[in-house]
Amino acid sequence: MKILSVNCGSSSLKFQLFELPEEKVLISGVFERIGIDNSFYTIKINDEKIKKEIELKNHKQAFEILTKELIENHTIENLEEIKGIGHRIVQGGSYFDKSVIVNDEVIEKIEELSSLAPLHNPAAITGIKASQEVMPNAIQTAVFDTAFHQTMKEDVYLYALPYEWASKYKVRRYGAHGTSHKYLTLKMAEILKNANTKLITCHIGNGASISAIKNSKCVDTSMGLTPNAGLIMGSRCGDIDATIVTYIMEKENFTAEEMDNILNKKSGLLGISGISSDSRDIEEGIKNGNERCILANKMYVRRIIDYIAKYYVELEGADAIIFTAGVGENSISLRKEVMDGLKILGVECDDEKNNIRGKIALITKETSKIPCYVIPTNEELMIALDTYNLVK
Ligand code: ADP
Repeated sequence: MKILSVNCGSSSLKFQLFELPEEKVLISGVFERIGIDNSFYTIKINDEKIKKEIELKNHKQAFEILTKELIENHTIENLEEIKGIGHRIVQGGSYFDKSVIVNDEVIEKIEELSSLAPLHNPAAITGIKASQEVMPNAIQTAVFDTAFHQTMKEDVYLYALPYEWASKYKVRRYGAHGTSHKYLTLKMAEILKNANTKLITCHIGNGASISAIKNSKCVDTSMGLTPNAGLIMGSRCGDIDATIVTYIMEKENFTAEEMDNILNKKSGLLGISGISSDSRDIEEGIKNGNERCILANKMYVRRIIDYIAKYYVELEGADAIIFTAGVGENSISLRKEVMDGLKILGVECDDEKNNIRGKIALITKETSKIPCYVIPTNEELMIALDTYNLVK
């Protein structure tokens, strides 16, 4: 069965077409600068990459071009072959604890939650409506970044704020990267041949989050109402003393928007190093003896260790720790520093095994009390699999 996995941003559309259950990627690509000047798209098919510059007025047009490319490249012979289209939705609030087939009520709820994800939810609705028009016979599904974390208990997801804010303003922790944490959970169940385990999953990319998982269900996660909570990230501050916000706003005369921009785009590794939000640049800076890069990295690693330790206690142990995403899959030094920082828990990094990038691997010694793994995440596949199961 052919299933399309779609991730719409306000000016972009990323896609992958899968053959399922074989999990084969038939074609993938991205449309960029939709509705802006200099728009273009790139498509990857059979290891060949095609880039075309073309005016893209809206998402509907992008879908039309996509279907034309699919037919011209003989990926499909007709549109009816695509049985399902899975859309990535950033914010599902308390409404959605799993992926669902899209109907009017689902669209309304996604729309209602837009104030919690103003850059993402409206774009996803645009994408859903556009694909409904272009591929009316396919079943459309919504796959939420927050759904996997809906199993968190009230005492875990509530903030210690006036109680009524949770219902009045929907202020609570929802988490993010749920599709990735779920994927890691399923993969680990395969590897350990057991789904009833305690896992600490570390999605460390530009955005980063850690989850505590027991018996395949999320117990706790580091992101909050928004993705700017928990870990120190590329340009996001993560956990800070909330009163810093009002203190600096008063001192600098910042508006809410200006302050939000600094906390999300000018903090984290970038804020401390003053150089870059990209951990490769930070690692380069460390090699060159840059003190601020050394400091930024120390803080970054410390926070990851803190969260793993917290979840180890919360889960009363751990059967595995898993690293994924851009940094987690590729940074050998980051993983080593984190594992070394967990020595007290009996974690023993195996330097040779850890010397890998972007593939499934066990990276600890046989004697390590907690095995650590690298598992490349695959959110697109997870979206497609959920869609496949709903269509079936
Ligand atoms: P996101 O999806 O949040 O944008 P990714 O998971 O794609 O992020 O991760 C991107 C980040 O991964 C980059 O900003 C960079 O910091 C990091 N990264 C990628 N490759 C490497 C590498 N070889 N070594 C260290 N960090 C890397």
